[in-house]
Amino acid sequence: MNKKDSEIIAAVLTQSGYVQVSDEDTADVFIVNTCSVREHAEQRALGFIAGLKHWKHARRVVAVVGCMAKRLAHDIATRFPFVDIILGPDAYRKIVTFVEDSLHGTRILETELTDETYCGIYASSTAVTDFVSIMRGCDNYCSYCVVPYVRGHARSRPFDDICQEVENLVQHGVKDITLLGQNVNEYCHGEVSFAGLLRSVATIPGVFRLRFLTSHPKDLNNEIINAVKKCDTLCEWFHIPMQSGSNRILQLMNRCYTRERYLNLVARIRQAIPCATITTDLIAGFPGETEDEFFETLDLMNTVRFDDAYLYRYSVREGTKASQYPSLPETVVKRRLQEMIMLHGKIMVEKAHEMYGKEYEILIEAPAKNNASRGKTRGNKDVVVHEHLNPGSVANVIINDVRGRTAIGTIKKGA
Ligand code: SAM
Ligand code: SF4
Repeated sequence: MNKKDSEIIAAVLTQSGYVQVSDEDTADVFIVNTCSVREHAEQRALGFIAGLKHWKHARRVVAVVGCMAKRLAHDIATRFPFVDIILGPDAYRKIVTFVEDSLHGTRILETELTDETYCGIYASSTAVTDFVSIMRGCDNYCSYCVVPYVRGHARSRPFDDICQEVENLVQHGVKDITLLGQNVNEYCHGEVSFAGLLRSVATIPGVFRLRFLTSHPKDLNNEIINAVKKCDTLCEWFHIPMQSGSNRILQLMNRCYTRERYLNLVARIRQAIPCATITTDLIAGFPGETEDEFFETLDLMNTVRFDDAYLYRYSVREGTKASQYPSLPETVVKRRLQEMIMLHGKIMVEKAHEMYGKEYEILIEAPAKNNASRGKTRGNKDVVVHEHLNPGSVANVIINDVRGRTAIGTIKKGA
């Protein structure tokens, strides 16, 4: 989401003649786009901003933007007097004026949340894969999560605007597009539902692969599963964050589904689309999680055998409901996360071995070591191909080697 937001900021500035540079010595403006989801991300951003003191001088502008800028605007302003601009996630449209004002000595602090969807701003891309934001904000208020407070209420971007951005990306050669939102299943604009949006975008000429991120288990319905099953360009990959395997913890998290309902969803997906990959997010050490409840999460991991998982230790976020609950000792949380990482690693290795001997369509994304190439399956699995292929090319690959959790293959003869 932040990567996409950075592209939006770059697009706004580029339209006014600014040029993106990778060497900070040649830059006039330094923009730090920040995340607030976990404390660790904020600490890293704060450390990074502190280091910019040495870069800053009178004719240079430092901007801190994004969720942490929204959440800690006044702290940042006080702690870092050299920061010229502080912007929340809805203020990027005016960034050019803000930069110019700050060059005239005005300090800017703009963190109001609005209905902004950045309609009409299309980032150009030269990559093989790219994201298209279809929604912003979130109304689900999971008890641990800061997103609704820093990104505002859920709103959907107009259908035509999404299609326009997808067409632009396709014209620039993008092959694999991911539709983005905190809970894309809730997309709704006028008469267009998320399943309707998927069916329409999937048939835009030139779209080669289409994905979506993130689905909420409470809202991923059969119509969406059927759209994936029926549209050739829609990839068979479902990212469905589970968060915990325990019903009591799920209720405390305000997730609005049970373990049984989640397992039923997984079964429905696998029955409809046997080759589907299912990935998830899990949190270790939510306040009050007992040892037995933690084992329910490990048990769920063993039952579903996710194709990949983002594993987090619970991080207290000020202002959320869960921040009022007493935290578990840090040693317990760390140990539980470690156990989850170990189990997940073992499953990932087994999953990579299951790919052995099978054939996959690989979209090449980048070169790899030793004149090889790196790409992805439709199910979003990384594969190394023993040949040099240009990014954007597509190959049918047979997996004939597995190292750790990486599947390696060669191009199918005669393909
Ligand atoms: N909207 C998506 C959903 O509900 O599945 C996820 C968005 S959130 C930015 C990404 C992931 O961060 C969540 O799925 C959750 O696992 C994790 N996360 C969010 N808040 C957290 C917290 N306070 N501590 C630890 N992990 C957290
Ligand atoms: Fe956060 Fe829950 Fe919204 Fe996801 S659905 S962004 S976890 S509040």
